[in-house]
Amino acid sequence: MDGLLQAAVEQSFNAVVITTADLEPPGPRIVYVNPAFVRMTGYAAEELYGRNPRLLQGPRTQPQTIQRLRECLREGRYFQGSTVNYRKDGSSYYVEWNISPVRDENGQVAYFVSVQRDISEQVAAEDRYDLMASALEVNSDQVVMTDWEGRIVYANPAFEARTGYDREEVLGKNPRLLQSGHHDQEFYRELWTTVKGGGPFRATFVNHARDGSLFHLEQTITPVRNRLGEITHFLSIGKDISERVHMEQALRRMATMDLLTGLPNRSFGEQILEREWNRACRYGEIFSVIMADIDHFKAINDHYGHGVGDQILTRVGQQLRTLTRDSDFAIRWGGEEFLILVPKADAKAACGLAERIRAGVAGESHDRVGRITLSLGVAGYRERDSRKRLLRRADDALYRAKEGGRNRIECG
Ligand code: GH3
Ligand code: MG
Ligand code: MG
Repeated sequence: MDGLLQAAVEQSFNAVVITTADLEPPGPRIVYVNPAFVRMTGYAAEELYGRNPRLLQGPRTQPQTIQRLRECLREGRYFQGSTVNYRKDGSSYYVEWNISPVRDENGQVAYFVSVQRDISEQVAAEDRYDLMASALEVNSDQVVMTDWEGRIVYANPAFEARTGYDREEVLGKNPRLLQSGHHDQEFYRELWTTVKGGGPFRATFVNHARDGSLFHLEQTITPVRNRLGEITHFLSIGKDISERVHMEQALRRMATMDLLTGLPNRSFGEQILEREWNRACRYGEIFSVIMADIDHFKAINDHYGHGVGDQILTRVGQQLRTLTRDSDFAIRWGGEEFLILVPKADAKAACGLAERIRAGVAGESHDRVGRITLSLGVAGYRERDSRKRLLRRADDALYRAKEGGRNRIECG
C-alpha cells in the first residue's frame, strides 16, 4: 500500500508539496515535492527541500490570500485559494492551492499537504472574457443581446442611459418594449426572418424611451452562433443618431421655410405650386392664385425702421395663415409680396378669399404704425394655361390694383 501511495503521488498530474507544520519563525519547511511540482516551479527537488515555501512568492502574490492561508493553517482547517507564484526563472503563474493539515497519532498537526494546479490558462481565458465583456460595457453605442426567442439577456450602460430602463428590469423582456409605432409589422417580420436566416439586419429604428421621448438608432442586429454553429442569440448594436436626424430636420425646415414669417419660402413655394398644378391638371380641377403686396411698405421702413417693418411682415404672415384654409398655401414670394395658392377654386371664389384677406389685414391697427393695407391681384386657371401665364395675369391684376388706388383687389 505504501508503495502504491508513493507511486500515485509521484505520478500525479497535479503538483504535490508537503511541508512541516511549524508556523512560528522560521516557518514551515518543504519536506517533499513530486515531479509535477518540480515541473511547475522549475526548481530541482533538492533546491526546495528544507526551504520555506515562501520562496515561490513574489510581488504579485496577493498578501490577503497569504493572510487567509495562515489563519486556516493556524486553526488546522482546510484551505483553498489561488494567487500568483513565481518559478525559479522569475516567470509568474497562477496557482490554485488545496492545503490540508496532516495529523500525527496524537492528533497534532504535523504536516501540511498541498495539491496545486497551474491555472494560468484558465485565468488568461477569464481575463479575455472579462476584457470582451468590458468592451461591451464601456461601448458608447447601445448594445443589447437577446436569446433565440428574443428575450433580453444583456444590455449595456449606454442602453440604460438612453432608454431610461435599468438592465435588471429589461432582462427576460422582449425589445419590443421600445417600439414607437413608427415601423409596421412587416418591418419587424423582415427583421426576424433576416436574422433567424443567419444574416445581419441593418436599419434606422425610431424607438421609444421610458419617458416617452423618441430616439433614432442606426442599428445592426447580427445572429450569434454557438460552437456547433447553431444560432442561439442575437446581438444588436445601435448608434444614437437622434442629434443628426434633428439637425437634418431643422436644416430641411430652414431650407424650405422663410424664417421671418414661418411661411414657405420662394423656392419651396415654387415646388408646391408645381405639385398643386400637376395635381389639378391630372384630375381636371380648377385652380386660382392670388398675388398680394403690402402698400407703401418702403415708407414704413423709412419711418419706423427695418425692425418694425419686419414685425409687420411677421404679422401679415400670421394673418395670411389664419385667413386661408388648410388646403390653401400662403408663400412669401418676395420682400413684401405673397403668393396664395387656392386649389379647387375658380377666380370668383378666389376673389372672395382675396377680399376677406384685404379686409382682414386692413381691419387691424398696429402699434405705432397704425393701419397697413394690401393690394391683391387674382387669376384663375384657364384651359391650356401655363403656370407662367397664370402668375403673369395675377401680377397684372395686382398692378392694376395698385394703379387703382391700393387697398383693393383686381381679378385677372
Ligand atoms: P407699393 O405700395 O407700390 O408696393 O410701395 P412699396 O413701398 O411697398 O414698394 P417698394 O417695392 O418700393 O418697396 C418695398 C420695400 O420692402 C422695399 C424693401 O426695403 C422692403 N422690404 C423687402 N423685404 C423686406 C424685409 O424682409 N424686411 C423689411 N423690413 N423690409 C423689406
Ligand atoms: Mg409694396
Ligand atoms: Mg413689392
